[in-house]
Amino acid sequence: MEMSKRQGKLVVVSGPSGVGKSTIVRQAVQRLGLHLSVSATTRPRGAGETDGKDYSFLSKDEFQRRLADGAFLEHAEVFGNHYGTPRDPVERAMADGQTVILEIDVQGGVQVKAAMPEAVMIFILPPRIDELLRRIEARNRGEDEQARQRRLAKAETEIAAGKLHYEFFVVNDVLDKAVRDVVNIIQEHQNQ
Ligand code: 5GP
Repeated sequence: MEMSKRQGKLVVVSGPSGVGKSTIVRQAVQRLGLHLSVSATTRPRGAGETDGKDYSFLSKDEFQRRLADGAFLEHAEVFGNHYGTPRDPVERAMADGQTVILEIDVQGGVQVKAAMPEAVMIFILPPRIDELLRRIEARNRGEDEQARQRRLAKAETEIAAGKLHYEFFVVNDVLDKAVRDVVNIIQEHQNQ
């Protein structure tokens, strides 16, 4: 008899800008063979970014059209640009029994949690706030002072909101340790 596959888990990873969440997520994806969701965004493609791999880069009109069609599982505006998680690939991978991981901001995470309360919510924290500020400075992509201030303010509100809405907190002090912590949290849920 054909058994139907067990539904895969959904994992949300958020954290302030500069905390190193992309690196952690990439390594967890490699170690566990997770399905990494590719977000859609209206922000311009950055140097070294590939359309369809890093993001699906959409015009504002196309993003709004898909949003109206209900094509996003969650969406948010960050620094004046729109970001959204395409619903279909996530649902298909989960139905296929795969663990799906979303790297999204807290506004999006809150929406996912409301729609799918069983989602595993992981928040990445910096070891110290001054360390985070240093990393944000180091990553400065030629932004002006105003943009830098916005990034810092957003990091602070992300941390405050993350503390309210997330379940697991991983401090990214030593990268390998942070990756192991995230991998362990995911594996525990995969076995449930
Ligand atoms: P960046 O433009 O630096 O790649 O991303 C800016 C912020 O948007 C980051 O906090 C990132 O996690 C978040 N983000 C990326 N994709 C999505 C998405 O699909 N949904 C939401 N809500 N946030 C996203």
